Amino acid sequence: APTIVWLRQDLRLQDHAALAAAVDRGEAVVPVYILDDAAEGAWAMGGASRWWLHHSLTALAAAIQERSGRLIVRQGNSAEVLGQLIKELGAGALYWTRRYEPAIIERDKHIKEALTRDGLEVRSFNGALLHEPHTVQNKQGKPFQVFTPYWRHCLDMDQPKVGPGAPKEWPRPGQWPDSLEVADLKLLPKLDWADGFGDRWTPGEAGAQAALREFMGDAVDDYDGQRDFPGVHGTSRLSPHLHFGEISPAQIWAAAEEKGRSRGVFPTSKGARVFLSEVGWREFAYHLIYHFPHTPTQPLREEFADFPWADDPGGHKLKAWQRGQTGYPIVDAGMRELWATGWMHNRVRMVVASFLVKHLRRPWQKGAEWFWDTLVDADLAANTLGWQWTSGCGADAAPYFRIFAPVLQGNKFDGDGDYVRRWVPELAKLPDKYLQAPWEAPAEVLEYAGVDLGGNYPEPVVDHKQARDAALAAYQELKKN
Ligand code: FAD
Repeated sequence: APTIVWLRQDLRLQDHAALAAAVDRGEAVVPVYILDDAAEGAWAMGGASRWWLHHSLTALAAAIQERSGRLIVRQGNSAEVLGQLIKELGAGALYWTRRYEPAIIERDKHIKEALTRDGLEVRSFNGALLHEPHTVQNKQGKPFQVFTPYWRHCLDMDQPKVGPGAPKEWPRPGQWPDSLEVADLKLLPKLDWADGFGDRWTPGEAGAQAALREFMGDAVDDYDGQRDFPGVHGTSRLSPHLHFGEISPAQIWAAAEEKGRSRGVFPTSKGARVFLSEVGWREFAYHLIYHFPHTPTQPLREEFADFPWADDPGGHKLKAWQRGQTGYPIVDAGMRELWATGWMHNRVRMVVASFLVKHLRRPWQKGAEWFWDTLVDADLAANTLGWQWTSGCGADAAPYFRIFAPVLQGNKFDGDGDYVRRWVPELAKLPDKYLQAPWEAPAEVLEYAGVDLGGNYPEPVVDHKQARDAALAAYQELKKN
């Protein structure tokens, strides 16, 4: 009786515990992907993620076919689709890699209970995290809420070993069940706003491995010094690959150690240690969403639930932010990078998020929704953590009164202006001195650079100092109540 391997956010063939166990079971192995938007609740995949998924599934189907297997693609309610497939195949087992989003945990639990009752062998595996949330707790037996002790605790645990490579031969069923084509899922946008994505990204396992190799070449050792500068390619850009499980954190860990060994800096260089701690932030995000399942919509720190947000009649401020038309170059550069590539540098994510929540005083949930739709790495755990961290309402968050000053951030992290010039080309001819604050430039400088404030580039939507004072006043009001 065949084994169904239900693929979800684990779109790879190497280091895949569920797939390896299915092969070991010694029967035919039928890999299945089911697009089930309803199961994700309010968090069905956004447009950019769908673009990624289309290409990732296409790559996976080809890799499986090379091994004489076949990826079965279906759409609809997962429990029903799996039920049909089990019947069609006379399957004896169903294996999958665990996910940790609250709605998905519930769904998977029901499926497991129902099918086990029916006599099927149902097993789930870890393949997405170094340490699953239920295996990590503090001395009081409680979940961690501060990163440093959390990560110190994880570093003391045994790190998972990388599992076997991709199966060389695919154990096949007598007859393959029907399958949709990946294109039938209609994941690609009708209007091709994603035409720039292909230049930047290679979705799929081979693309993920190539990105890892490239980063482990040299960049990793300089990561600690380079990671904050959005104008340089100083980070790994592995986030969408990790989100879709095209690569596992165990593989990344092993690659960093291997690199350290080859350089004689065992276990790793400082750059690699800092890099691995960022992978640790991803683990921490999953720890939090698992233990505090209300946080994708509600602040972890309850006292922030009644934050006095500002009005935004007509949604003009939100739109200016979304379109990269706030008049603050570093903010606009970030929002345009996001739109054009489906990704934004982490430093700039913090700056634009702080700007929306503190300068414009719009709810962090609005920003999280926009990111959800536009990021190729949109990830419920990491996005929730990132937004709550910046808003001051989450675990180990930046204190609310730490308000990023966009001009200072721009000068500090994009001092030579490479990043702003790339994404806000209408400002490209401004000298560095005025690039992050064009309204301070004398009229003749603006004219020489071809910048028309309020014409080809907007005036600032809010005044930094006034916005900052208003945000701090709103925070005082919250504290009073
Ligand atoms: P690297 O610097 O190379 O880091 C390696 C890996 O570690 C990343 O691929 C990622 O998986 C993980 N990582 C790094 N930083 C963080 C972090 N702060 N939190 C959690 N994981 C981290 N990341 C997402 O993957 N999906 C999101 O939806 C997301 N939303 C965010 C929203 C906001 C407001 C903020 C401030 C951050 C968000 N991040 C999110 C975290 C971070 O910005 C990205 O993971 C990072 O920029 C990805 O680039 P990279 O792969 O080059 O990272």
